[in-house]
Amino acid sequence: MSYVDSVLDELIRRNPGEPEFHQAATEVLNSLKPIIEKDEKYQSVALLERLVEPERVIMFRVPWVDDAGKVHVNKGYRVQFSSAIGPYKGGLRFHPSVNLGVIKFLGFEQIFKNSLTGLPIGGGKGGSDFDPKGKSDNEVMRFCQSFMTELCKYIGPDVDVPAGDIGVGAREIGFLYGQYKKITGRYEGVLTGKGLTYGGSLVRTQATGYGLVYIVDEMLKAAGKSLAGQVVTISGSGNVAIYAAEKAMQLGAKVVTLSDSNGWVYDKDGIDLDAVKEIKEVRRGRIKEYLQYRPNAEYHEGKGVWTVKCDIALPCATQNELLEEDAKALVANGCYAVGEGANMPSSLEAIDVFLKNGVLFAPAKAANAGGVATSALEMSQNSQRLSWTFEEVDAKLKGIMANIYREMAAAAKEYGYENNFVVGANIAGFKKVADAMLAQGIV
Ligand code: NDP
Repeated sequence: MSYVDSVLDELIRRNPGEPEFHQAATEVLNSLKPIIEKDEKYQSVALLERLVEPERVIMFRVPWVDDAGKVHVNKGYRVQFSSAIGPYKGGLRFHPSVNLGVIKFLGFEQIFKNSLTGLPIGGGKGGSDFDPKGKSDNEVMRFCQSFMTELCKYIGPDVDVPAGDIGVGAREIGFLYGQYKKITGRYEGVLTGKGLTYGGSLVRTQATGYGLVYIVDEMLKAAGKSLAGQVVTISGSGNVAIYAAEKAMQLGAKVVTLSDSNGWVYDKDGIDLDAVKEIKEVRRGRIKEYLQYRPNAEYHEGKGVWTVKCDIALPCATQNELLEEDAKALVANGCYAVGEGANMPSSLEAIDVFLKNGVLFAPAKAANAGGVATSALEMSQNSQRLSWTFEEVDAKLKGIMANIYREMAAAAKEYGYENNFVVGANIAGFKKVADAMLAQGIV
């Protein structure tokens, strides 16, 4: 049995009940075979065994009181996965589906994503099974305060810097930051995604979605194509989906779908993004309400975005939202490029369908790295007590995404997998982390 296969076998045996973590590790480790199996040095220091084991897992109780005076208890997590190249960095997710396996898959992916940005940040992730949906602002505040009362013991601007993710946006980051400051008495850049009045960075809100479209644009350009005039389908209607749609439209594409966990909308004339922002960012409503703004659009309950004919698909909701049959439907309808805005939205089988059919495929750890890259720019501004302009940050983001494209394309080519950006992104992200681990000894 090969070294990689034996590490994967052992990982599955020792981490039962964590299918998402198994899936993420399988994708990464399998595509590292060309580099790992060529060189004994990795196996001789058990590098993979150490890489797949988090440096630290913190699990805690989060008690809070609702508006009616009832006491609730949620689970809190922070997985500090790898500090090989810098302090832990990665978002917090508040969603009922959160469990240890989900946080570990996200933290594992984050190691390579952060490495790909070229910035000195390690990998981590955290969250809770708390559902902010349907809660009052005061309930969300009390939950965030309780969560941070414990989390603040383990984070710091040079230790671990959390950010947002599903269910954690500007409101939650504000409450978390306020509590951190109250407990520690320190005004420092311990969280990113902060409001602009208290240390946040311009472009952070847009960064993941914009970055996704910047890298897709690079990938299309290299193939002699462009976004102009293309029909784009997008899933989700949260932070990543909204700003991916905005940038795609700015570059001349027509975005025709968005979704949430209840259903999806199809607007053949192109999505009205002002309406979506009003529904999602202001009223915290459901995507179904889009029909109140555009009565000629269609609303469907359940899943179905990937049945719509498109040139380019951008999954921006959640993990495993695009399965083998969805990939086949996209290919059959002429879709020729996919960029992953969400983390691990495509199953392993779906990725296989895309690669076998020559679809240009930008995997999540490269394609959605713009968010964490801009978070790292927020950290730099906080350290320097400076605020850069929108144009400055946007130009840096664009440069970082172009560089990630070049690195993953070059790594894919070097190892004989031209245009396989899954292999390219994994190898390019891995190399830097592995070199740092080799240099730092058995720790
Ligand atoms: P938001 O909470 O802003 O939006 C999430 C969207 O996805 C919502 O439309 C939500 O619908 C939908 N969704 C979430 N869970 C499910 C589910 N189980 N089934 C169906 N739909 C679901 O999160 P973000 O936009 O920030 O995150 C979206 C994805 O992008 C995630 O995978 C995240 O990890 C990834 N990402 C985010 C980054 C960021 O900077 N925010 C950075 C890099 C990656 P509903 O409201 O009904 O739940």
